[in-house]
Amino acid sequence: MDILQRRQDGRWRLIEVKSSASMKDEHVEDVAIQYRVVSNCGLDVASCHLATVNRGYVHGGSNIDPWRFFRIRNLTRRVQSLQPKLVFQLRSEFRVLGMDAEPDLPTGKHCVQPIVCEFYDHCKSSLTPFDVELSEDMYIIQRATAEAYLAGKSASTTTSETQPPQPTIEGTPGMPPTKPGSASVPTPSPAGIIRVTWQGDVPPQKWMNFYTKVLSKFATQSGLKIGLNVEIAPEGGVSNQKVDEIKVALRELGLSDTVNIDSK
Ligand code: SF4
Repeated sequence: MDILQRRQDGRWRLIEVKSSASMKDEHVEDVAIQYRVVSNCGLDVASCHLATVNRGYVHGGSNIDPWRFFRIRNLTRRVQSLQPKLVFQLRSEFRVLGMDAEPDLPTGKHCVQPIVCEFYDHCKSSLTPFDVELSEDMYIIQRATAEAYLAGKSASTTTSETQPPQPTIEGTPGMPPTKPGSASVPTPSPAGIIRVTWQGDVPPQKWMNFYTKVLSKFATQSGLKIGLNVEIAPEGGVSNQKVDEIKVALRELGLSDTVNIDSK
């Protein structure tokens, strides 16, 4: 927290200052957590504010006028309305903090949005080959091939009469280069096999890769049917809020939002 200002009536005004010209959702949550901590420490906080840079401020040459340099918004109502949600969020975060080992979760969009997580360098260093996805228009070539290609490219810039050497890409001559992950897969025979089914457990971390590597090849054709049996039973249970979020997400996907709930 940046500023705690005592008011004339003895209560406190909390002000969080951001080096940003606009207010973002995460700023409100930031102030809401600060309000919670300070209030639970015994301070009587009367109001919460966010100070951002006023883009329209023009420095007149003398001292900077902080009341004009900053745009100060009163977030008291928003901060108070966030408190019930924060109770669930903080409980879950304290549960993670109390774990003996770090949770085994894959890196993803949540690591960089809305801000880059301070542990990103640590987590991304533990990437496994399964966490790396290559798009359809990417090819893997060996270093020698790449260097030969680059050397040819550079030679072509020195003389327009010399044709750059063409890269030798692994695969059958005259055929498209081999795509990652397909080298050892034999060409499927169109005859004989009319159906392939599979049943097994997919670790949550490999779900996206499972879709990309196995299902996406058939997703645009007819004949692919996927039945799912999902069980979510974390230690500590599932909050009603999370159940509601699951239902909303299912509805947004156009799926049935009927979920089975087991209670104690
Ligand atoms: S980088 Fe941060 S958000 Fe991403 S997995 Fe690691 S700790 Fe979690």
